[in-house]
Amino acid sequence: MSSTFLFRHFALPLVDLVRRTDSIKVFRELNESQWKPREELEEIQLQRLRRLLIHAGKHVSYYKDLFAQCGFNPEKVQALSDLAPLPLLTKDIIRRERKRLQADNAAQFQPRPHRSAGTTGHPVFIQMDRMRHSIGWADMYRWWGAAGWRPGMKQFVLAGAALRPRQLSGFKARIYGKLNHFEEYTAFNLTPELMNQLLSRLKNFRGPVFLRGYASSVHVLARYAADRQWNGKVHAIFTTAETLFLEQRRQIEKGLHGPVFDQWGCRDGGIGAFECDRHQGLHFAAENAVAEICRYGKPLPAGESGDVIATDLFSYAMPLIRYQVGDIATFSASSCSCGRGLPLIASIQGRVSDFLIGSNGQRIHGEFFSHIFWETPWVKQFQVVQDTREEIVVKIVPDGEPPKAELVEIQRLVQEQAGPLCRVRLELVAEIPAGPMGKRKFIICNVSTQ
Ligand SMILES: [Zn+2]
Repeated sequence: MSSTFLFRHFALPLVDLVRRTDSIKVFRELNESQWKPREELEEIQLQRLRRLLIHAGKHVSYYKDLFAQCGFNPEKVQALSDLAPLPLLTKDIIRRERKRLQADNAAQFQPRPHRSAGTTGHPVFIQMDRMRHSIGWADMYRWWGAAGWRPGMKQFVLAGAALRPRQLSGFKARIYGKLNHFEEYTAFNLTPELMNQLLSRLKNFRGPVFLRGYASSVHVLARYAADRQWNGKVHAIFTTAETLFLEQRRQIEKGLHGPVFDQWGCRDGGIGAFECDRHQGLHFAAENAVAEICRYGKPLPAGESGDVIATDLFSYAMPLIRYQVGDIATFSASSCSCGRGLPLIASIQGRVSDFLIGSNGQRIHGEFFSHIFWETPWVKQFQVVQDTREEIVVKIVPDGEPPKAELVEIQRLVQEQAGPLCRVRLELVAEIPAGPMGKRKFIICNVSTQ
């Protein structure tokens, strides 16, 4: 009996039991539904949306009042676009109206409190249905499955606390990881010893190697591997929890000799998308949510970039309808050659906090910095922090003595982007520690755009 067999048939059902989820069952359903034609998936979305809206209008006092004010009748919803007249739900409204957003029959959906994982700003507390937790895990299995992983197969994980259930730590977390067949490495302290150990495990592992982690941590590992001409091979690299920039992807694939399968999601918004083996974009998990791309609350056609507005179709205890999750993305009008009917997201431009704000209010994309720094050999690590509109601080960990002329040039390039009213300050530092969840975000914008 292979270890994969044992994990699939004994350990994973136990994980479901401990976690109080039904992820294996939901995984099977999602694995089938993803191949349905686009029109059929839209019909499923529409039925689920109508059911959710009727429930919200009946059991949730916030929506009872809102629907009355807007003259909105959920029974009459005939198309996904019928949602558009409803106002957006912001994080501020959730904080203010938290009690009134909860259904009077919430208990029957077995909800559990969930705190949004924002690295900046204030967290938002919501109630998540049991079903929503199950879908979250099943969606991940589906993503890994698109790269050839099957339930029970081993996975190497390089991450912090954000990739496991929040209530687990210490011994329980270790047991949980083992039952899942994860071999875990901490992203908090990426020492050469740890990276050598992981690279050697990946190289000598018998069977397909699946590696999953924060985009930034996997990127650090890949650069380390490339510097040492590591000659192992990774079957699939799953990047998650952070925006993956193009230059990062290129360097990860080059250093670790394997394809990247990116994932994007927002747990509190109930939305997710994953990359398949054709790498033509990210498949939006349309069975579970409705996503609109909007600017100033107005929906935009495919191909245009805007704010992601999510309606989670499985949040009954605390429905979040037209929730502005804080990400910016572009949907694609084309289909993927893999045959999945799930719509494609052409690109995720990131969270609002992945952009800096220039002196004219213009957004400066993180990609701009990634181009400057990751092609500069003497830059070991960098981080750009903006706490006020008037100043951008660029921290650099140099490898040896940095060439003066290049420092001047970097200062000039960033200043040009920032504009005359925003001061750019370069700081040479010995290290940039990982953040509270073990992430190494390289763009941190604490300036509100509202
Ligand atoms: Zn595909």
